[in-house]
Amino acid sequence: MRFIHVACFDDWRSEARTLLSDEVAPSGVHWSPADNQLGLFDQIDGRTTAEKKSDANCNEGEKPPRVSVPSPFLELARHVACHRDPTRWQLLYEALWRIVHGERRLLEISTDDDVHRLQLMKKAVTRDIHKMKAFVRFRRIEADRPFETYLAWHRPDHLIMRLAAPFFSRRFKGMSWTILTPHESAHWDQQQLTFGPGLPANEAPQSDALEPLWKTYYASIFNPARIKLDMMKREMPVRHWPTLPETTLIEDLIRDAPARVNQMIENHEGFAETGAHYLPIEQDLKSLRQSVNKCRACHLCNDATQAVFGVGPPNARLVLVGEQPGDREDIEGKPFVGPAGELLNTSLRDAGIKRRDVYLTNVVKHFKFERRGKRRLHKKPDSREIYACRPWLESELMALQPKIVICLGATAAQALLGRDFRLSQQRGGIQVTQWSERTIATWHPAAILRMPDKNREREMIEQFVQDLKQGNEIFE
Ligand code: SF4
Repeated sequence: MRFIHVACFDDWRSEARTLLSDEVAPSGVHWSPADNQLGLFDQIDGRTTAEKKSDANCNEGEKPPRVSVPSPFLELARHVACHRDPTRWQLLYEALWRIVHGERRLLEISTDDDVHRLQLMKKAVTRDIHKMKAFVRFRRIEADRPFETYLAWHRPDHLIMRLAAPFFSRRFKGMSWTILTPHESAHWDQQQLTFGPGLPANEAPQSDALEPLWKTYYASIFNPARIKLDMMKREMPVRHWPTLPETTLIEDLIRDAPARVNQMIENHEGFAETGAHYLPIEQDLKSLRQSVNKCRACHLCNDATQAVFGVGPPNARLVLVGEQPGDREDIEGKPFVGPAGELLNTSLRDAGIKRRDVYLTNVVKHFKFERRGKRRLHKKPDSREIYACRPWLESELMALQPKIVICLGATAAQALLGRDFRLSQQRGGIQVTQWSERTIATWHPAAILRMPDKNREREMIEQFVQDLKQGNEIFE
């Protein structure tokens, strides 16, 4: 019997390779419970993990041969490795053994007990990561530092820091922050992400200047007509409440809810729901695309044929953002396929950009229109609809991580560059935003086509191509 201790996924993978090359069956291995989360310098059998790693590095030539496994297994294993279940390493090795010994398509058998358990673990970890993204609240540290630093404390169910932290470094790349959890901490200095030991909750600051902002924001989005306390506790588990400043408001908000609902009815106010309620847990483009048609955050879904999500390669470096789908787009379910799409195609060609290299999307995903007889005339989305749909666009941009974003028209420009942005005065200028190093705003092709003055139309097309050429620079 071999006794193996592992602290993380990389340790497990390295040990599993050795065991496979020695033909050690799962019954011949005892994987130690790993919820002690040994760190890099913790003692293992008299030697530190770092020493073991160093030994491994010294013996490069003796590394066990690489094992080829389907990539979904690696993805599954990375998540399962973060689960607290002490049997996870054993279970992973059993599945790996079966895969390399003839059951290559094992993961496709969802009724298999091992596969079922592994999938449940992955689901729990994914859900925990989702909650961490939603519930981490940074507090500013008033320390003697040359720049502002932010700190958050969070208590996840599983050991998810390394899977979750890259999200925060992308989302808050312009600020220095530390996230503490009981088992591990992550630090971002605006350039590099590093990890350290965990800390107890009482090490985190209890309040700061940002707290009132959180509370104001939460009070403004709190919808008294939709109070479901059980669901709220399920979605925002009570154990996270101490680190969420807005939760101190919940009691008061619930008490005042009936009066607020009556007031809203009297004022004919709509409910401030957003697409965030309908976002999937996994926020890759495929999952987002599959979920957007279920969104009911605003009334636009009632009359439109379908939601029109973005199209283009998931690794696109250039993203074009328009306003909303038009009549043809609504029917075909793809953005920029109508007359505006044709003008976009010729302009992209003139700018030396291949459309297939570009990701195209809109700020608002459902078509807003007014019926005139048999015709459906485009209607500009209002600020509430744009606000409601914003989580879809933000999630798309987060998943894409583009080099350059070009906003087509004032609606897209104001959504990404701020409400004060004036297209007629600031068109073509380059700005840094949280979404890309370069964000540019230019005309919307539909606005060019609506221009009654043909000379002006020609001039706008030239400017449009010129602005697109700035996007072409990244392909050169
Ligand atoms: S327009 Fe956006 S927010 Fe409104 S229902 Fe459609 S997807 Fe949801």
